[in-house]
Amino acid sequence: MKYRTWRKAELHCHLDGAIRPATADELARQQQLDLPRPLRLVAPPDCPSQAAYIAYFDDAIAVLQTAAALERAAFELGVDSAGENIDYLEVRWAPRLHVRGGLTVPEVITAVLGGLAAAPLRAVAIVCAMRQHSVEENIALAKEAGRFAGRGVVGFDLAGDEVRYSAAPQARAFEAARAAGLRLTCHAGEAGEPSSVEEALALGVERIAHGVLGARVPAIVQRIRTEGVVLDLCPTANWKCKAVAVWWYRDQLSLGTPPQSPALVMDPAMVAAAQQDQVVKQRRTAVRPMLDVMRVRPRRRPVATREPAALVPGR
Ligand SMILES: [Zn+2]
Repeated sequence: MKYRTWRKAELHCHLDGAIRPATADELARQQQLDLPRPLRLVAPPDCPSQAAYIAYFDDAIAVLQTAAALERAAFELGVDSAGENIDYLEVRWAPRLHVRGGLTVPEVITAVLGGLAAAPLRAVAIVCAMRQHSVEENIALAKEAGRFAGRGVVGFDLAGDEVRYSAAPQARAFEAARAAGLRLTCHAGEAGEPSSVEEALALGVERIAHGVLGARVPAIVQRIRTEGVVLDLCPTANWKCKAVAVWWYRDQLSLGTPPQSPALVMDPAMVAAAQQDQVVKQRRTAVRPMLDVMRVRPRRRPVATREPAALVPGR
């Protein structure tokens, strides 16, 4: 498929959602973890909910509780991404989910940055706070992650179950992240109500992970446009979580927020559906405008290094 030959930016990639299955198996064996086999690493197409979908991160998180495992997973993700012709990679994950084995949050971040630095592409990190964690815990995370601003960590995100946990109570964590020099994004609009997108906008984010449910409310769509907020969409995830039907992307590309995840064309079932709906065909023209948006838009003051601005110099 020609898609593989395109030069790409990966803006929405979860470290714990992209571990090589063979590596996860090996790490589970090495650490003698009591996990059901085969490991649950790939969510099925018929997930009943976003919460059920998120549960497919659990086994990967379980094997990534040591610095060596985190560094290896980050490095291999960089290698695999470069192999897909991705030359700018933003990797996100939730450091506070990786401290069960005794690591501190700075140690977790250091390990991941070490792996990314050794990878054969430009790779930076986005730190995810979790919706189910208290705002005090996420403020502490923001401050710790902020110490890596300019040294590999570029952004602060919020992830987790949108139905059970609102983003609004996390406002002070986002303020702390901004004060620490991080740019802001938030998972929203993949489950629950369209208002979750408004909650994310109220946090002052410049990108929203997904945001698809916001398309149901014209006022939210207009606000996304006028505020210049970029949506990094993951069609396969949105489809599996039942946020949208596959045809949704065909009709909504006029938003100027194209499908972004390589998973779109890596998932055979999604490929078949997408080909019917010509989603893949439309991606070709949609990706470049997104990169242009990323390149020119510092809504907040930029962090010091490895900005999307460095992505496409002279191209
Ligand atoms: Zn995500």
